[in-house]
Amino acid sequence: MAKLPQHLETKLIHAGEPRPGIEGAVTIPIFQSATFEYADQDDYHKLKYIRLNNTPNHDAVHRTLAAVENAEAALVTASGMAAISTALLTVLSAGDHLLVQDCLYGGTHDFVTNDLPSFGINYDFIKPDQPDSWNRLLRRETKVIYLETMSNPLLQVPDLKAAIDFAKSNRLLSFIDNTFASPVNFRPPEHGFDLSLHSCTKYLNGHSDIVAGAVIGRGNLVDRVKHRLDRFGGSLDPHAAFLLHRGMKTLALRVRFQNESTLALARFLERHPGVESVYYAGLPSHPRHAVARELFNGFGGVLSFELKGGVEKAAQFMKKVVLPISAPSLGGVETLITRPATTSHSGMSREDRRQLGISDRLIRLAVGIEATEDLIEDFQQALG
Ligand code: PLP
Repeated sequence: MAKLPQHLETKLIHAGEPRPGIEGAVTIPIFQSATFEYADQDDYHKLKYIRLNNTPNHDAVHRTLAAVENAEAALVTASGMAAISTALLTVLSAGDHLLVQDCLYGGTHDFVTNDLPSFGINYDFIKPDQPDSWNRLLRRETKVIYLETMSNPLLQVPDLKAAIDFAKSNRLLSFIDNTFASPVNFRPPEHGFDLSLHSCTKYLNGHSDIVAGAVIGRGNLVDRVKHRLDRFGGSLDPHAAFLLHRGMKTLALRVRFQNESTLALARFLERHPGVESVYYAGLPSHPRHAVARELFNGFGGVLSFELKGGVEKAAQFMKKVVLPISAPSLGGVETLITRPATTSHSGMSREDRRQLGISDRLIRLAVGIEATEDLIEDFQQALG
């Protein structure tokens, strides 16, 4: 058999496509059929049915996702939250305990604090960059350590190497939400994480037109998650799977551009006299810059910052910018701007946000693929 493509760019184009193409089609068509003819399958989970996430469009996107993170297997889900909640509920049951980083995507924070306890699952928050403090929270019932590659919205970088060692020496499963980095900048399975989770709504699809999620990692674990998902019903529609697969073909181009553009904007903001603080791991002023440089191929397309002045100043700035659209989410081709206190983290109390360092005036920018110069010019005018 011919050698499989090695580079990420090539895998994004070819790894998932059926070859020879179906009826000669260069890209896989959409198989919009709820059910498929019985083909002597010996297992319920292998029957071809959209809820069982195994139509040709699912298979194609699974192959691509596994290939780009150098993992054994992948599974797409109806949303990022479906991936996160199903993965955690596959391995945790009543009485179990989870160690989870304290500064989390708001939806995951709400799931951990509201839903897991109602299933009898306990948790403790850990400081992701202070591994020495993790041991004293460990219990006999602890099953999983859960991190995010870069935290939202402050772009903190956990001690990822310590997390892997800690998981191995304490026989824990290690899960990481890799949405912010994308497989272009970081590939968790290469570093020993058991499962890498994504909101494919963001960079992987890249066009702000679908909601989807992914679970990528060890084959037996992904299989267990699939069986749970088959029963929970959080499958992805084939049309959305097709769009995700198509979007992923330009992932490397988009993310590399976003890495560069965001770094340029971060530098511009850091130099501007009207700006008080900038949070971006690509800046040497970031406390974990050296670690991020060592582990990541780029620092991603999200940064956050605080202007000098109060919340009104931040609100004024957001009204004055022309290009960025005021909307939650990230990873699309268009630049989005939000105040996390009013969007992604509004489910949290102000006190909880304050403890995590998320001020009400913090602005988060998710950079798209517009010309960097246009964004800087727009920021310049909005800052006055
Ligand atoms: N993880 C991160 C880091 C996110 O930013 C989001 C959404 O913003 C999610 C997970 C949830 O993804 P979805 O909206 O696709 O369910």
